[in-house]
Amino acid sequence: MRFEIMTLFPDLVDTVLGESIIGRAQASGAISVKTHNIRDFATDKHRHVDDTPYGGGKGMLMMAPPIYDCYCHVKRTMAEDGFTGTVRTVYMSPKGRLLTQDVVRELSAYDGLILLCGHYEGVDQRIIDEIVDEEISIGDYVLTGGEIPACILVDSVSRLVDGVLADPECYEKESLSSGLLEYPQYTRPYVFHGRKVPDVLISGHHANIDKWRDEESLKLTRDRRPDLMEKDPGNTENA
Ligand code: SAM
Repeated sequence: MRFEIMTLFPDLVDTVLGESIIGRAQASGAISVKTHNIRDFATDKHRHVDDTPYGGGKGMLMMAPPIYDCYCHVKRTMAEDGFTGTVRTVYMSPKGRLLTQDVVRELSAYDGLILLCGHYEGVDQRIIDEIVDEEISIGDYVLTGGEIPACILVDSVSRLVDGVLADPECYEKESLSSGLLEYPQYTRPYVFHGRKVPDVLISGHHANIDKWRDEESLKLTRDRRPDLMEKDPGNTENA
C-alpha cells in the first residue's frame, strides 16, 4: 500500500509515522509513505499558499493552484515509478464521511491513497471538486489541520495491510473489527494492587476461556456501545 500525503507540514507527518509499527512497516517495504510539501509548489517569491476568502469572513484559505501542482507532481512520480494500482484521493475534512473500522477496511482495498491535508480555514472548494474522490472526517470535532487526521487514517489502514502486523488475528478479534468491543485483557503479574486475574484465564480450559471472552465482549458492548449491537447481525442478543 502506497500513501502520498500532500501537506504544509511534512515533518509533522514524517515524525508521527516514522515511529513504532508504522515506521517498521515502512522500513520493511510493507507500506510506503511519502510526504509532499504544498509550499514547494507556490509560484510567488514569498511562497504564498493561502489567501483571504471571497465574500469576506475570518481566516485564510489554502489556494487551489499550489495544491493542484503538488497533486500533478504526485501523479507523475507514481507513473514514473511504474505504479499502476488503484488509487483514491481523499481530503481530510470535518465535513467528510466518518472514519470507522468499516471505512478503514474499505480504504485498505486500494493500492494507493493520496491524502490532502487542509490547514487554516480549509481549502478552496474548486480543488476538492477537481481532484478529490472523497472527504473523510476522523470525528465530530474540528482540528487545526489535516495532518493528524491523515496520520490516523494511515495508521488504521496500514494495520490491515499484509506484513504490517505479525498476525492477522491481532486485528480480526479486536474491538470493532468483530463488530463488538474487545473483552478485557490481562498479563503478569497475577496480582496487582490486590486485584487478581480472573480465574478462568489461568484455568487452561480453552472452551471456557473463549466463552468468558465472548460474554465479556457482549457485556461491554451492550453497556458502552449498544449502537454496535444493533449493527451486528451475528450477535445473538438481537435474535
Ligand atoms: N473551516 C473548516 C470547516 O468549518 O469545515 C474547518 C477547517 S479546519 C480548522 C482546518 C483543516 O483541518 C481542514 O481543512 C481539514 O483538513 C482538517 N480537519 C479539521 N478537523 C478535521 C476532522 N475532524 N477530520 C479530518 N480533518 C479535519
